[in-house]
Amino acid sequence: MLNLQEWIEQKLCELNLVERMEDPHGYNRLGYTEEERKSHQQFIRIAKELGLNTYQDRVGNQWAIWNVHKTAPTIALGSHLDTVYNGGGYDGVAGVLSALAAVKILKDNQFTPKKNIAVVCFISEESARFGVSTIGSKAISGELMIEELEGVRDRDGITVKEAVEQMGVKWEDLTDATLPLSRLEQFVELHIEQGRKLQDCHADLGVVTGIARPTRLLVTASGIANHTGTTSMNNRNDALVAIAPLVQYVSELTKHINKQEDPHLVATVSTVDVKPNSMTSIPSKVEFGIDIRSVDDTAKQSLVTKIKQFCKEAEKKHQVKIEVETLVENKSVFLDDTIKSKLLETGHQLGFKTELMVSGAGHDVMNMATRWPSGLLFIPCRDGISHQPKEYTEISNLVNGTKVLTEYLQIEAKQ
Ligand SMILES: [Zn+2]
Repeated sequence: MLNLQEWIEQKLCELNLVERMEDPHGYNRLGYTEEERKSHQQFIRIAKELGLNTYQDRVGNQWAIWNVHKTAPTIALGSHLDTVYNGGGYDGVAGVLSALAAVKILKDNQFTPKKNIAVVCFISEESARFGVSTIGSKAISGELMIEELEGVRDRDGITVKEAVEQMGVKWEDLTDATLPLSRLEQFVELHIEQGRKLQDCHADLGVVTGIARPTRLLVTASGIANHTGTTSMNNRNDALVAIAPLVQYVSELTKHINKQEDPHLVATVSTVDVKPNSMTSIPSKVEFGIDIRSVDDTAKQSLVTKIKQFCKEAEKKHQVKIEVETLVENKSVFLDDTIKSKLLETGHQLGFKTELMVSGAGHDVMNMATRWPSGLLFIPCRDGISHQPKEYTEISNLVNGTKVLTEYLQIEAKQ
C-alpha cells in the first residue's frame, strides 16, 4: 500500500495527465477544453476510488461528496484543475489533490463525520483563454455577469458560449447556477502561494487574511505626430516624452508608500501601446495600462489620486492631453476570521511554522467568500514562481497542507 507521500505523488501525475512531473513545456489545460475535461475525469476516478459520490453542477464544476445525511451541513474544500498556456502542474491541482488526500486519510482512519464533506474542482479558473477568471466559482456564488460573458472569444474566435456548450453544459443553465446558501456551510481552499514570502521567512504554511483585488487604469496621452527629422526639439507635442516619466513615478512612489505605511501595495505599468510606432514619427498617442493591488483599498485610491495629479502636471508641461480612465475597481475580499484563526491554530498545533499573510493573486475562494464563510491556506512554491513550467512545490509541502486540512476537517465535521 502507498504511504501518503507516494499516494500524493501518484495522484498529482494522474490529475496532470502525465507519467512524471517534468514537462519542460508545462501544462495546457485551458478552461472548457478537452484537456480540462480529461483532468476532471481523473478527479472523478480518484474520488470514486475513495468512495465519494460525484456529479457535475450547472456550470461544469465537478463535485465529489462524502454524504452522511441530506440535511447535514456541508463543508467544501477544493480549487481548480485548469491552467494557463504552458502553465505549471501545481496551481489549482494542489488544492484539489490535498482535499482528496485529506478525505483519504479520514477514511483510512475510519473517521465518521457528522457533516457532509465535499471536494470541488471549479471549472475555468484561469483567465488565460477568455480573459475572464474564476467562471465556475463566480457562477455558483452568484457573481457571474452572463450577459457580459456570452460574446467573449478566445484566440481562435470561439465564444465562451460555444466552448461551454461543446463541454455539454447548457448555456441557459449557467444563468441559473447559483447555489442556495444552505447548500454549503463553509469553503476552504489550499493553493500554492505564487509569491516568495513563505520561502523567504522559512515558513511551512500561510493563512490568508485577505485577497488584494486590482484597480486598473488606462492612461492615454495624446500629442501630435510629426516628422522626427524636420521638427525641432522645441516645437513638439511628444506624447511619449510626456508620459514616460510616469513609469518610474508609479514604481518609486509605490515603494515609498510601502516604506512608510506598508499596505502591501503593488503597482505596475504593465502595458504600453505607442502610435504610430514608426521610427520616423514623433509619438502622437501613448496608452499605459496600470495594475494596482493591495488589500488596503484606501491605499489604492490614494495612489490613483497621485497618478492623476502627476498626469495633470505632465499635461501642462508637455502640451499634450492626458486622460486617466478606471477600467477595473474591485474591492478587496476579506476571509472569515473564525476559519482563519482555526487554520492558524491547527497549523501551530501540528508544529508547522504558520504565518498570517495577504494574497496578491485572486483565487476561487474570493467568490466563495462573498456567499459563504471561507478560508485560504497557502503552501510555499519554489522561488515564488508560477504560471510557467518551472512552477514547483515539494511533495512534503503538499503533505503538510493535507495534514492541516485533515485535522481541520476532523474538528469541524465532528460536531
Ligand atoms: Zn490557481
